[in-house]
Amino acid sequence: MRQADSLPVAELLDQLESFHGTQEADWPTDPYLFLVWWHCGYPASDDACAKGWDSLKGEIGVEPDQLLGAPSPVLSAALKPGGMVPELRAMRLKEVAARVKVQWGGDLRSALVGPIAEVRRELKKFPGIADPGVDRILLFGRIAPVAAIPSNCPHVVVRIQHGQERENYGVTYREAQQAIEAEVPGEFDARSRAYLLLKHHGQTICKRANPKCPECPVSLSCSFFAGKRRGRSSPS
Ligand code: SF4
Repeated sequence: MRQADSLPVAELLDQLESFHGTQEADWPTDPYLFLVWWHCGYPASDDACAKGWDSLKGEIGVEPDQLLGAPSPVLSAALKPGGMVPELRAMRLKEVAARVKVQWGGDLRSALVGPIAEVRRELKKFPGIADPGVDRILLFGRIAPVAAIPSNCPHVVVRIQHGQERENYGVTYREAQQAIEAEVPGEFDARSRAYLLLKHHGQTICKRANPKCPECPVSLSCSFFAGKRRGRSSPS
């Protein structure tokens, strides 16, 4: 729960938007295409995935039949611009394509209906997809307006509201989710906006290792900047 004197999330988002501008998703939001994009880069980052994605689209294509029909060495070569372990990523892409084709006739989106716990379970069967990836697919695929948090910067809202993030990634992620769940309406546009603004701020200013606090538009309302350092071993 947010502390009484901390910045409400709605105000935080307005301030971030004034500073960074409106943010748009620059990755494929369709669930199947996102799964392909995710394996286009490693270590997975927007830049690495975009490079691998562009190469894959140009060389082979991204539909299940195109991925399954490509010889593995050709697929690996197309994925090389995305970074390390292209052979492993090629194997995983074939696994994704095969599951979508065989299990759902090539239409993953039509399979992602029904109780959200079941949808979540299905998505987690894909290689490399854990809870943050599932949340992102659910929100940006407009399947469920969950409180998705950018996996590489759950610390942003936590630092502002509580102070230093926890050592345990899962605890920090959950604290960030609780803030969004409690203070951002459970609607696709509102939660996508929150995700994108926190992501952009975390990647450009509130970096995990060296936050640029002197340049930050919300520093005067930030618990971390005010010197709040919590015990790091156990959640309060
Ligand atoms: S003041 Fe520093 S810790 Fe707080 S949000 Fe800004 S960059 Fe992050």
